[in-house]
Amino acid sequence: MAVKGLDIFKLTPKTNCKECGFPTCMAFSMKVASGAAQIEACPYITEDAKAQLSEATAPPMKTIKVGVGELEHNLGGETVLYRHEKTYVSKALLASEVSDALSDEVNDARFANLEKVKFDRIGEMMFAEVVSVRYASDQAKFLELLKKVVEMGRIPMAVVEDEAVAKEAAAVIKDTKGILMAATPANYEAVTAIAKDNKLVLGVSADSLSELHDVVEKIEALGYKELILNVGSKSIKDAYRNAVDIRTSALKNKDRTFGYPSIVFTNQLSDNRSLQVAMTSAFILRYGSVIVMDDVDYPAALALFGMRQNIYTDPQKPMRVEATIYEFNNADDESPVLLTVDFALTYFTVSGEIERSKVPAYLAIPDAGGYSVLTAWAAGSFGSGVISDFIKNSGIEEKTKSRKLIIPGKVAVLQGDIKEALPDWEILVGPPEAMQIPKYLRELSGLA
Ligand code: SF4
Repeated sequence: MAVKGLDIFKLTPKTNCKECGFPTCMAFSMKVASGAAQIEACPYITEDAKAQLSEATAPPMKTIKVGVGELEHNLGGETVLYRHEKTYVSKALLASEVSDALSDEVNDARFANLEKVKFDRIGEMMFAEVVSVRYASDQAKFLELLKKVVEMGRIPMAVVEDEAVAKEAAAVIKDTKGILMAATPANYEAVTAIAKDNKLVLGVSADSLSELHDVVEKIEALGYKELILNVGSKSIKDAYRNAVDIRTSALKNKDRTFGYPSIVFTNQLSDNRSLQVAMTSAFILRYGSVIVMDDVDYPAALALFGMRQNIYTDPQKPMRVEATIYEFNNADDESPVLLTVDFALTYFTVSGEIERSKVPAYLAIPDAGGYSVLTAWAAGSFGSGVISDFIKNSGIEEKTKSRKLIIPGKVAVLQGDIKEALPDWEILVGPPEAMQIPKYLRELSGLA
């Protein structure tokens, strides 16, 4: 049952000291009751009171950590069903799968793609974070594959229901905070003990949602709550409906038994690669926490990681790049300086076109609030003062003797004011659209 703000208020010292970041104990209590603040933010609430409240005020969906060190990721912890309501917080992790049932050539090709497919997109490294290793019948080969995943530095997931083999697999991945995808209604007691002993996240599967609910309750009764729930592999329709039902049940109906992240094996739903890619995109939206494909190759990765990044960013915070001077095409002390804003999509569009021009150039990016050119200009964060201060303080005047500053065509109106603030510079109005930059730069440099 939800705890009322007044119940929480009774447990505070009522001193209104503001250390929690709220002006009064009552304001803080109301925020805790609504899930917008954590009870731990008040240093004066006793441990007893915290224990009383922490379960009742805990978010409906648990946050489960997988991986260690740089590979550590949160799964779950979501508070809303739709991104536009607030934001999603834990990005879906993508996985490819190897198995002792597959030939060495197939496994090696998938490992090769895992090594190859790694790229930076707007400051985030994109790669398949998890590798699923599925057990069929060859225990030695299965364990070797798991070891290889651990050595290559990805989060290992052992997919194995056989208790004896699961125990061996857990020993291989025990220091990785990997996933032991093993629990079913038939074996949950034994594999829960294995997962607990080795501090692994336990994957739970069942034939139906009601069976899944039962087995999760039983595992929780054994004292283990590091779980991830399999949405099932009977059919695409069932898997999708289960993913939605599990998440809806947790967040809307406050059913904490289903308040765990979920896992989707698209490769068990179809052999068709294109269909796996399509399903992965659907489950990034609704509601896979780990999504397994046979193979995450470059064509799939470019589309899926780009989509994932767009979904798992806070819609209230613009995606930004660092405000600094960027160099392109071996810019030297004769190169002109282009100017744009720090909105990530603008930066990547403009930088791509500068690269395409092959003309050595600098790109100056002041702090423009993370908005697009016209929005930043209208908001006052991309005016002549901001721009001229940045040019003066950025060190660009030491990097190039050229004093050509090319401003975006959409803010041509700033030309006069910038010229006044930067009298040593020639202020040129660039093209209004990024795609016209290569032609513009080549003409400017006499290369056209
Ligand atoms: S820190 Fe605790 S005592 Fe201080 S205002 Fe917040 S709730 Fe009240």
